[in-house]
Amino acid sequence: ATTPNKKYTIAVLPGDGIGTEVTPVAVEALRLAGSLEGIDFEFKEMLVGGAAYEATGVPFPEETLKASLESDAVYLGAVGITKKMPSSDHLPKHLRPEVGLMRIRRALGVYANLRPITVFPQLLEASSLKRSVTEEVDFMIIRELAGGLYYGKPRGFGINEKGEETGFCTEIYSSSEVDRVARIAFDMAMERRGKVCSVDKATILESSRLWRKRVTIMSEEYPEVDLSHMLVDTSGMELIRYPKQFDVLLTTNVFGDILSDVSAMITGGIGMLPSACIGGPGPQLFEPVHGSAPDIEGEDVANPLAAVLTAVMLLRYGLKEEAVAKRIENAIFDTLNEGFRTRDISTPGAKIVGCKKMGEEILKSLYVRV
Ligand code: ATP
Ligand code: MG
Repeated sequence: ATTPNKKYTIAVLPGDGIGTEVTPVAVEALRLAGSLEGIDFEFKEMLVGGAAYEATGVPFPEETLKASLESDAVYLGAVGITKKMPSSDHLPKHLRPEVGLMRIRRALGVYANLRPITVFPQLLEASSLKRSVTEEVDFMIIRELAGGLYYGKPRGFGINEKGEETGFCTEIYSSSEVDRVARIAFDMAMERRGKVCSVDKATILESSRLWRKRVTIMSEEYPEVDLSHMLVDTSGMELIRYPKQFDVLLTTNVFGDILSDVSAMITGGIGMLPSACIGGPGPQLFEPVHGSAPDIEGEDVANPLAAVLTAVMLLRYGLKEEAVAKRIENAIFDTLNEGFRTRDISTPGAKIVGCKKMGEEILKSLYVRV
């Protein structure tokens, strides 16, 4: 008798714009790679963002929430403006597409945003930086996602003693908020090259001082991990000067927001970048870094590799199915080695293909490797 296939349910939320073009590529890669490893995926396609608003009147319908909570992992394409809805300024705030993203993150209780910054050797020429800087770069940014400056209270507008208008936000971190994301960073370092660099501004900010203190305390539980601290301004320089020094870069919500976009430019660009939002009690959330990209929507030119690399993260960090993850990673590698490129990562002598064709080539590579 043969053992029955393992089964997973994935909530698939393609969303808006190029989200609907790149998501099918990721889904087909998951389906095929899974079947080669004896795994069946059930994909539950649900609405989110502007697409959900147009169909149901809200950007995050109840059914989407329910299917997401009942899944083993959630895959999200992109939410944002589209050719059809080029602005959402006319909508009340709670009905705008990006609300869908905020809601799902909150519903799943995720608090750590993982962004791998990896330079593919085939794409060295596609980077904004010179080869000697980007070669062999491979690090993981872990950004705190549920607290800090973007959520702290009090915030608002006021009037100061001079009668001037003021605007203010508060950065506040509790020890448990720092501890839980720091643990993810140290655990990740144990699986990688054993280094955590924690980025803060402890020379000036009390919230950073608490951050540094808690991360240092946690490091005592991980004697094998080499912990360093870096000020955020220094890290901005170091990321461009010598990015190879980083293994796991742990940082706060606001610093992570900025540094992950800086780091994005070390790789071939936004069409190559996957991300994961993890740490919640249930299913975790996986989404490419890029948005809906209305400027290229509907033209079949979007790069699906960010989406497919996101599927790899879903397998690796969500389902812990490393063998399937490796299969897809190898297929991407082979496809790039054969010279296939979408327009955004084109290098001299490349075979420029569209989104669909790139997807077909990845599936072919998956078959060939069987
Ligand atoms: P958001 O606010 O949703 O993050 P954004 O303004 O940051 O959106 P993105 O949609 O993320 O914009 O992308 C910025 C630009 O990068 C796009 O307009 C598009 O030209 C390009 N781009 C983004 N994703 C891809 C992709 N997968 N393939 C090719 N080009 C892309
Ligand atoms: Mg953006």
